[in-house]
Amino acid sequence: MAYEELVQQLEFLRDIGIDRLDLRQPIAVVFKPEIQPEPMPELVAMPEVTASAEPVETLESVCADLGDCQRCKLAPTRTNIVFGSGNPHAELVFVGEAPGFDEDQQGLPFVGAAGQLLTKIIESTGVKREDTYICNILKCRPPDNRNPEPDEVEQCSPFLKRQLAAIKPKIVCCLGKFSAQYLLQSTDSITRLRGRFHDVDGMRVIATFHPAYLLRSPEKKREVWEDMKAIRAELFRLRF
Ligand code: URA
Repeated sequence: MAYEELVQQLEFLRDIGIDRLDLRQPIAVVFKPEIQPEPMPELVAMPEVTASAEPVETLESVCADLGDCQRCKLAPTRTNIVFGSGNPHAELVFVGEAPGFDEDQQGLPFVGAAGQLLTKIIESTGVKREDTYICNILKCRPPDNRNPEPDEVEQCSPFLKRQLAAIKPKIVCCLGKFSAQYLLQSTDSITRLRGRFHDVDGMRVIATFHPAYLLRSPEKKREVWEDMKAIRAELFRLRF
């Protein structure tokens, strides 16, 4: 890790209120450049070899199917569909709730204030934001940022499932209650669901607090830091 990156990471910890580090386990990985894993080689989609082989789903094909979606009542009020952005071969995917005002305007996920905090959170795992993939349960903004409704989740979530099947990430991090409850098929609170890994469709899924909630309750950042440490350690474990 370059000196500047180390300084940035320490500044992040200071900014979120961490003033002590336990360097014994597994945070030690963060500060030992000599045992940093090599970057994963790019995953290459296998070509279709026989006429009967399953066609390979790609993000492009999922996006094309979504098209100018009119499947639910959010279509008439959205400005842009927010499909998702990032590395189509990401090892680590973040799934939020639904686009807000800025995301609806720009057609990109997490570009507002919560998105800036999300960038810092992501980078505390040692992965750059552009090397992850970020998307949401809903691809259209609910009016006045209200909560997603069940019929909207029902229409939209198959596209999220297909995105995950196309990316095949090692780890998915759910941001907030709606994402966690949907991906973990649970009605438990985010406080109960966060902080540990669950196995879902061949992926390791962990939940943490939503960055927008952290903007309102900064004292919860310490738990998010613990969750990011767990992601960092799990990525390290899965690569070797
Ligand atoms: N909140 C979300 O859940 N998703 C976004 O893309 C932006 C804010």
